[in-house]
Amino acid sequence: AAKDGGRGRFHFYSNDLHAEAEARSQMEEDLRDAMARGELELYYQPVVSTSTERICGFEALMRWQHPAKGWISPERFIETAEDSGMIQQIGEWALRQACQEAAKWPEEVRVAVNVSPLQFANVQFPAVVASAIAHADIDPARLELEITESVFLQDDAGTDATFAALKNIGVRLALDDFGTGYSSLGYLKKAPFDKIKIDQSFVHGATEQGSRNGAIIASITSLAHALGMDTTAEGVETHDELNLVRMHGCSHVQGFIYEQPLDAESAAQRLSTGLEAVARGPRSSRDQR
Ligand code: C2E
Ligand code: MG
Ligand code: MG
Ligand code: MG
Repeated sequence: AAKDGGRGRFHFYSNDLHAEAEARSQMEEDLRDAMARGELELYYQPVVSTSTERICGFEALMRWQHPAKGWISPERFIETAEDSGMIQQIGEWALRQACQEAAKWPEEVRVAVNVSPLQFANVQFPAVVASAIAHADIDPARLELEITESVFLQDDAGTDATFAALKNIGVRLALDDFGTGYSSLGYLKKAPFDKIKIDQSFVHGATEQGSRNGAIIASITSLAHALGMDTTAEGVETHDELNLVRMHGCSHVQGFIYEQPLDAESAAQRLSTGLEAVARGPRSSRDQR
């Protein structure tokens, strides 16, 4: 009976794996179609300076509305793009698109683009970046590339050369989702980051009694400040969170308290009313839920 049970279980798992593989290749096919039909779109979320309360940039966030399945989360389809190699093409499209959009904005407004570690590892990457900037004819300093610590898991010499090439082009570099990965201080010493983005998991709940998140945010900002880097607090939703990250020295804030990600037209519209940002949202997460 034990043996039968074992076999039955094996069978169950193998069907499960089969269904999973099927779903994955379906997603891959859908994504290929989406690229061809132009279903992918970039949305733009304002990044606000805490000292001036003005919009100083937008982060470009990819959106995909599947004709039958509706909105698919970027966390899901980016992974499919990475597994299938499509990330190179999709990533290049995003860079070009974001630079072209930024060319329509006031000069002082930057655009930030998320970069997959697989794009970063491609030797062609700096050339792709340079070409997107040249094509849109924008100042390279207006483009900020958001990368995560996982780029450091790749080979050292290649990574160093890519950082050097990007600095040479003159783009800005941001370390995204800081605090969620290895968060090795060696990375901060090694790579020429202009900004650290503090992951929203530290922001949410930071205002709760006894939370250690505030202390963590404070030490990241003081470290960043000492190294001459900016800090953006991600995912700020409430006035309490905004006050807290300000008190702890974050130079920038991004989150629903200011604005949701906007489609390109709405972002341009938003800019046409001026750069002043107004915090709108619940006092605390208790009011919100
Ligand atoms: P990320 O780069 O850390 O982006 C921030 C995420 O937080 C975005 O999720 C944004 O919509 C969300 N967010 C912003 N403000 C708030 C807030 O106040 N509260 C909450 N709860 N969330 C907020 P989104 O757009 O779903 O993107 C998820 C992730 O997908 C991104 O995380 C990034 O890692 C990846 N991604 C998105 N677009 C691209 C892209 O063009 N290329 C690559 N390689 N990755 C992308
Ligand atoms: Mg990002
Ligand atoms: Mg992030
Ligand atoms: Mg993230």
